[in-house]
Amino acid sequence: MTETPSATPLTLYNSLTRSLEPFVPVHSGEARVYSCGPTVYNYPHIGNMRAYVFADVLGRTLSFKGYKLTHVINITDVGHLTDDADAGEDKMERMAAVQKQSIWDIAEHYKQAYWADIRALNIRQPAQWTIATDYVPQMVAFAQSIAEKHCYELDSGLYFDVSTVADYGRLARAATEEGEGRIEQVDGKRHQADFAIWRKTPAGETRQMEWDSPWGRGAPGWHLECSVMSGEVLGFPFDIHTGGIDHREIHHPNEIAQNQARCCTNGLDVAENSGAKVWMHNNFLVERSGKMSKSSGEFLRLQLLIDKGYHPLAYRLMCLQAHYRSELEFSWEGLGAALTRLKRMVMGVAQVRERAGEAEAVPGPRFGPFLDRFEAAISDDLNTAVALTVFDEVLALKKVDAGEKLAALAQMDAVLGLGLLTLDRGTLRLRPKGVAITEGEIEATLAARKEARAAKDFARSDALRDELAAQGVEVMDGDPLGWDWKLG
Ligand code: AMP
Ligand code: ZN
Repeated sequence: MTETPSATPLTLYNSLTRSLEPFVPVHSGEARVYSCGPTVYNYPHIGNMRAYVFADVLGRTLSFKGYKLTHVINITDVGHLTDDADAGEDKMERMAAVQKQSIWDIAEHYKQAYWADIRALNIRQPAQWTIATDYVPQMVAFAQSIAEKHCYELDSGLYFDVSTVADYGRLARAATEEGEGRIEQVDGKRHQADFAIWRKTPAGETRQMEWDSPWGRGAPGWHLECSVMSGEVLGFPFDIHTGGIDHREIHHPNEIAQNQARCCTNGLDVAENSGAKVWMHNNFLVERSGKMSKSSGEFLRLQLLIDKGYHPLAYRLMCLQAHYRSELEFSWEGLGAALTRLKRMVMGVAQVRERAGEAEAVPGPRFGPFLDRFEAAISDDLNTAVALTVFDEVLALKKVDAGEKLAALAQMDAVLGLGLLTLDRGTLRLRPKGVAITEGEIEATLAARKEARAAKDFARSDALRDELAAQGVEVMDGDPLGWDWKLG
């Protein structure tokens, strides 16, 4: 909004200290953010996408506050095992075997699918997508630089000894030995929490993805990847590292341990020593039955929502209505309510746009207090729920200049990222899968029905309504939003 960071301080919840802290950038006027990206072995579910909606709102807020943002999201195409700790198979290898395709094809397919969801949810492109397999030489170099002091070698790979860094697991608030019994034991590991930073290919086997290293042919560990890509692109220390709350337990503590070993002194008393100053985590999207899963029944992909006729931005709005640190329960009713709210916003903004015409304007003093409250809400650890209510209040203002009002709404939408100035009734109306009738046919039948009603031929009017219903079209007489009809 302004050239320099504005006066309202931005406060963010730092998982490392478990407290709200004013944001103080490492480099004046800049914000460098790294978000753990997906492992591209399957489609993302909408819970995964909540993590990126959150990171996007964070990035938009930093831009709004005047910081020059550099955002990096990685794509993990190697090294993530079926257990976040140190056991199981490589997720990519396993899916490639199941689908009888090369890992590279699997990675490409699911990366594209993920990017399609990113676009559909109006998530801004980061400055850089880092692909894990592009950074293997840097990973080997990183591992070499810490191997002597912090690692030991076993037949299965190079392991990080967590007792060599101070405060291991502080982020998770877990004792080093926690998880005992849950983590599959690897023979020779010194501590339960030690983890592989390089996994050797077992003798006699060949992996689809493997590289040479001082510890033999093999592949990097997942935790190593994020330490390397974040440090390479953003430089240690950088400002903010994000991920879902599950990463607070294993992945991020392990990244922090590596970062401590690599670049900083051991102690975590200075936050910079963890590689990133602030570690932020979004809570989970859950289903009533529990945690969202990619294997359970009807897999909740964004495409499924679209196939059922819900615009993807209704899901974005659903996320914004909750605080990112609160668990959010998914339900179709909740999504339907978010879609209705989105329609109301879109129709409201469309009216303002019509009245405002082409002339460019800036929000006058009348809007100042509202924009201040909006900024206060978003600066309060990204309180999007309150920010949305301020947006609604501005939308409802009467007797104000339409051009100025539109400018105020645009400023707020730049943070919310709902694309409210470009959406319209037509784009919001998605055709659920299996519905064949065209909009032209619907409009023609509705016109015939209007004529029948004008002629007081109610039997025909009802018959036309039933005809539409049989084809999946619900007629909405007297709809306060003037929506007239909907599909599905
Ligand atoms: P993955 O592809 O499994 O590495 O996950 C991608 C991102 O989604 C990570 O930041 C996870 O922490 C996050 N995540 C996983 N499940 C959920 C969920 N149900 N709700 C919100 N975030 C999630
Ligand atoms: Zn990561």
